[in-house]
Amino acid sequence: MSDCIFCKIANHEIESTIFFENDEVVAFDDLNPKAPVHALIVPKAHYADVGDDVPDDVRAALMAAIPEVARIKGLDNGYRTVINTGPDGGQEVGHLHIHVLGGMKF
Ligand code: AMP
Ligand code: ZN
Repeated sequence: MSDCIFCKIANHEIESTIFFENDEVVAFDDLNPKAPVHALIVPKAHYADVGDDVPDDVRAALMAAIPEVARIKGLDNGYRTVINTGPDGGQEVGHLHIHVLGGMKF
């Protein structure tokens, strides 16, 4: 079994706040929100980061999930997306994820 925390969340092995899910991705609330809305979009399969060998259908699913998450969270006035990559990017969890931040003006 993987030790990756986001694999465990995506596989429903631990409790989480998953509010959106399809065959490829899940979205849940960040544990330490940096904005009134702070969600994470995560592929169900494990990829280390955006430079990993991510199949096109998974890349497409991640991209398509962004406006879905924004709609579910009511971010009609806009939002910010962030992908941290590697040590210089401040990536703390080594499973590809997209931050969706909103509910405030950046
Ligand atoms: P990053 O620095 O881009 O790797 O972001 C990792 C994010 O995951 C941080 O914003 C953390 O607050 C968040 N995080 C870590 N563990 C969990 C968890 N168990 N559930 C939800 N969010 C988490
Ligand atoms: Zn993982």
